[in-house]
Amino acid sequence: MNLARFPRRRYTEGWTPMELLSRLSEIVGGPEIWIKRDDYLGFFPGGNKTRKLEFLLADALSGGSDSVITCGAPQSNHCRLTLAAARKEGLECHLVIEERVAGTYSKRESGNNFLFHLMGVDSIRAVPAKSDMPAEMEKTAEELRKAGKKPYVIPGGGSNAVGALGYVACAEEILAQSFEKGVSFDRIFTTSGSAGTHAGLAAGLWANRSGIPLTGVNISRPNELQVPLVRKLAGETAGLLGIDDPLPDDLIQCFDGYVGEGYSLPTEAMINAVVLLARSESILLDPVYTGKAFAGMLDLIGKGFCKKGEKILFVHTGGIPALFHYRQYFDGVLFPGGRE
Ligand SMILES: *Cc1c(COP(=O)(O)O)cnc(C)c1O
Repeated sequence: MNLARFPRRRYTEGWTPMELLSRLSEIVGGPEIWIKRDDYLGFFPGGNKTRKLEFLLADALSGGSDSVITCGAPQSNHCRLTLAAARKEGLECHLVIEERVAGTYSKRESGNNFLFHLMGVDSIRAVPAKSDMPAEMEKTAEELRKAGKKPYVIPGGGSNAVGALGYVACAEEILAQSFEKGVSFDRIFTTSGSAGTHAGLAAGLWANRSGIPLTGVNISRPNELQVPLVRKLAGETAGLLGIDDPLPDDLIQCFDGYVGEGYSLPTEAMINAVVLLARSESILLDPVYTGKAFAGMLDLIGKGFCKKGEKILFVHTGGIPALFHYRQYFDGVLFPGGRE
């Protein structure tokens, strides 16, 4: 496998840190817990989309595009980081936002939405929940083409085979870095959403025959939908890498018990995990993705899924701005007697 044959822009200097969570591991009393700090990736508050965009924007630029279009939720980290990458490359950026509750999208919202406007997004169009997002992005693309532009459409979450190459690169980084540090991991945990992260890591770990099991914690879908989604993208990513052997059946493992009532809706375990990591390790998780995934990992440890003496790695995928947007989720824990 040779990743260097794919065009890539570089948005992060060197490797992201890999740290032992010694205080947390002691509190939990199970395996040794390590974290891969992909919240330190490039672009202010960086995250997993930064790695995908290195390959996606390079692909856009090598095809001569002058504008990018993508889509996401009103607090999408992916939309914000795509806009950041577009600004850095001098490209136009157009966003299509899926409004989950009709009439609730407002350009005055905080968090990532504030950053869309701070960075001067070229256009935002809100469409109703469950819209056909590829078709909606195509409408925007058609308008731009009519205006003489050459748009490049990036799917939701940057999750296609080109974007997933970013997490193949991350898998190689993890292997090189763990070798450098002399730690051999027994398992890696990641959030599993639009699947580019999970699929890219799976393809990269497998292509290297690392033998390290990978566990995804779902943040929106049940396993019947998530596992095939990740498997399909992992297969496409391996195909793009020129690996023809079929992926093993048990390569993709997901847990769907930590979603709660739905995407971005809080769970008590998520709140406790965010507070615990902030207070033990001074690391911020986000309420939509990493908070739920970390809570899932802690629950699985409690159930004996990972044993004392093992070493496990949690991939922190970023998402910090949403923590500030959803701060009221934490009122009950932080201000038990009320805010005043
Ligand atoms: C998008 C996102 C994820 C999910 O990654 P996918 O590749 O879409 O599965 C996880 N964490 C954060 C912070 C994200 O923004």
